[in-house]
Amino acid sequence: PPSPSTPSSMAVTSTEIKDDGERVINLDHGDPTMYERFWQQMGDITTIVISGWQSMSYFSDVKNLCWFLEPEFAKQIIRLHKIVGNAVTDNYYIVVGTGSTQLFQAALYALSPPNASEPMSVVSAAPFYSSYPSVTDFLKSGLYKWAGDANNFNKDGPYIELVTSPNNPDGSIRQPVVNRSGENLVHDFAYYWPQYTPISSPADHDLMLFTVSKATGHAGMRLGWALVKDKEVAKKMTSFIELNTIGVSKDSQQRAAKILQVISDSYEPVGNPKQSGPFFHFSHSMMEERWKALRSAVKQSGLFSLPEFPSSFCNFLGQAFGSQPAFAWLKCEGGIEDCGNFLKRHKILTRNGKHFGASPEYVRVSMLDRDESFNLFTKRLSSLHLSQSKDH
Ligand code: PMP
Repeated sequence: PPSPSTPSSMAVTSTEIKDDGERVINLDHGDPTMYERFWQQMGDITTIVISGWQSMSYFSDVKNLCWFLEPEFAKQIIRLHKIVGNAVTDNYYIVVGTGSTQLFQAALYALSPPNASEPMSVVSAAPFYSSYPSVTDFLKSGLYKWAGDANNFNKDGPYIELVTSPNNPDGSIRQPVVNRSGENLVHDFAYYWPQYTPISSPADHDLMLFTVSKATGHAGMRLGWALVKDKEVAKKMTSFIELNTIGVSKDSQQRAAKILQVISDSYEPVGNPKQSGPFFHFSHSMMEERWKALRSAVKQSGLFSLPEFPSSFCNFLGQAFGSQPAFAWLKCEGGIEDCGNFLKRHKILTRNGKHFGASPEYVRVSMLDRDESFNLFTKRLSSLHLSQSKDH
């Protein structure tokens, strides 16, 4: 990859903003609008045109196990993983899903035995991604059931452990914690990309989930992919999606293929590297700036603390750095018991630690909002001092 550089026209700027304290800053969801600026600068290079007569059939590739996977999207997924070096793709089946949210459900379905006497336990170490419990249980499936924090799991028999690395909400690098016979692991690699964390080696687990939402910022395309080692598991995941939505939008897959292609072209001497920017270098610098700004605001305020991340070498960027996660796992110090409520009184909306199986002293804050919102957030945070916490 080329040396780290941020094209000057796209330099991260902190625009001067007046904060009258009235505007509500909503950093509850991890909506990746931060990336809009990059893709705007790319202009028409990612534009595709789909005519009325195209993408009409249900089928994409009848010879493929996952028959609704667009071949061009599959090709660009493999190419990008090879360039970034974050996952092995040789001898894996690719299953495409409507977001990795659908693939997560497909994985639970595929890994649970169809005729067990009781539902399979699904666990993840706290703090865990807040959607896992709700998505697992909302249809009250007889096949699987949320069983909480993997650290406290001691039931005998088979189980599914979700390993999210880097983790949502706290950015930690994770390994499975239960490690017992009968384990079925799902590795959620939504954030295993070089803007968030050093790429130490290509991951090669049995079932790995990825999503464009956090990789390129195209959450609205609703596309994810699973890399699956076992053919039968890949087949069952494919049937889940067949029964659930009869496949996945072809239009989205074609658009995603183009986006991934443009990213890969900027790292390989093909295509038109001058027109396409080095996406991961840009997004990495942006996250670096944001974490610097946040840590400085936290220091200035004195009311909060943040996790620290050890520095390690990234084979893709060719440099060492500490993780700069998509979310800040912010802790209120100074005796504030409900951090979410405290920030809400200052019109900063975050997600309470309770939703992640953790204490309400913590909140999760999105680091991926637009510049304006993020800058206002750090500005307001830095102005909160002990007197404000005593007021409430
Ligand atoms: N897994 C994790 C850990 C996530 O943070 C998210 C998005 N917040 C998802 C999965 C879901 O992503 P998608 O938009 O692909 O459904």
